[in-house]
Amino acid sequence: MHRTRNAKIVATLGPASTSHETIEALHEAGADVFRLNFSHGTHEDHQRRLEVIRAVEKRAGRPIGVLLDLQGPKLRIGTFANGPVVLDKGASFRLDLDATQPGDTTRVALPHPEIFAALKPQTNLLLDDGRIQLRVERCGRDFAETTVIVGGTLSERKGVNVPDVVLPLSAMTEKDRRDLEFGLTLGIDWLALSFVQRVEDIREVREIVGDRVGIVAKLEKPAAIGSLDAIVEEADAVMVARGDLGVEMPAEQVSAIQKRIVRSCRKAGKPVIVATQMLESMVSAPVPTRAEASDVATAIYDGADAVMLSAESASGKYPVEAVRMMDRIIAQTERDPYYREVIAASHAAPRANTSDAIGYAMRHVTGLLDAAATVAYTCSGYSALRMARERPGAPIVGMTPQIGTARRLALVWGVHPVVCREVADMLEISELACATVREEGFGATGDTVVISAGMPFGTPGTTNLLRIAQIA
Ligand code: PGA
Ligand code: MN
Repeated sequence: MHRTRNAKIVATLGPASTSHETIEALHEAGADVFRLNFSHGTHEDHQRRLEVIRAVEKRAGRPIGVLLDLQGPKLRIGTFANGPVVLDKGASFRLDLDATQPGDTTRVALPHPEIFAALKPQTNLLLDDGRIQLRVERCGRDFAETTVIVGGTLSERKGVNVPDVVLPLSAMTEKDRRDLEFGLTLGIDWLALSFVQRVEDIREVREIVGDRVGIVAKLEKPAAIGSLDAIVEEADAVMVARGDLGVEMPAEQVSAIQKRIVRSCRKAGKPVIVATQMLESMVSAPVPTRAEASDVATAIYDGADAVMLSAESASGKYPVEAVRMMDRIIAQTERDPYYREVIAASHAAPRANTSDAIGYAMRHVTGLLDAAATVAYTCSGYSALRMARERPGAPIVGMTPQIGTARRLALVWGVHPVVCREVADMLEISELACATVREEGFGATGDTVVISAGMPFGTPGTTNLLRIAQIA
């Protein structure tokens, strides 16, 4: 089986998608990567889902990527004594560190000393996904007196966003460390870091995980946008996390930021996922709004590697339909002749180094000879990423002896990962590549295959060979 589209689908698993039947149906409908969202559920829940994914993978004979998404420093208020409170515009409302006292209409606990350390008068606080806005009037080490700028009903444990300041917080909480440790024992392929603010956040996690997993930097803080290119350079992949990003930035800026992030990632050759609310109405309806369908298509025209479903597949009523709909929108968009035009026009010039030169040559050779497929023989995945960066007109078969690499490549634009035996010389790669292209249904006798690899084999970060072969 192979997909007939380039962009990939990430589907979040949750209560609506736990059974073997559903996860298998999601994969068949088009999910390439499954996201385990550690903001919800127990370790046992995630472990069970992962076991099902691996069983589905085995039966389908196709590598499936697993993305563990850490909650990160999501800030929340405490509880209320008598249920939700109504905050009126212009009223005073106090936040403090006293978590032992349930809140009321005049105050509530905010058990995060780091916030108080970073607040200044005039700082804006956004509560409940931005529905309520408070402005700090006076503050100290353990309190803030605020004025309600936009009021509404506030219930307990709602999220708090502080868009204007860089918070003195690590991107990993104690819970995240426990979740990560657990995830590493499970065997995951990608690790998503929430609320990344600086390059150091990624380096800190890299120290722990080494090259065992790829790190996805979730961009959902305006501070991160300020050092976008450096973060993209340090991360292995990026997520445009429009849920929290959309709260922290004015709505009218989201589209431009999305495009800027995708551009930066395409330039660097790092996979980029556009996420959140893509088919939101499918949480409760079997078809999306036309505006949502258009939003998915826009991400595809931008050249994103993957689009993601959150609540739609995790807790909605139509998880499989949502994946199927996404699959159809991507396939249709990629058939539009204008799609090829925009992808080519938005292509960043290659850098003057060996691997970019190989990628550049590969794309032109593929077009000139009308090759049936391109093949990247890759141990770390690097050669396949350099090929994907070029967005060639033929499928990219990512041939690798490493199952972990194959699973990671499931996220990448245009890459069809295949696990193969270890090979020692170029002739063997060439024969195996042609056989694989035929077996996987991408070409037949007489077709041209363009192959890239790095020599010496097995050394990550080298792509220095280009070979043109014919299927015998
Ligand atoms: P979340 O991240 O679903 O973990 O909040 C994605 C987003 O904020 O868009
Ligand atoms: Mn988020």
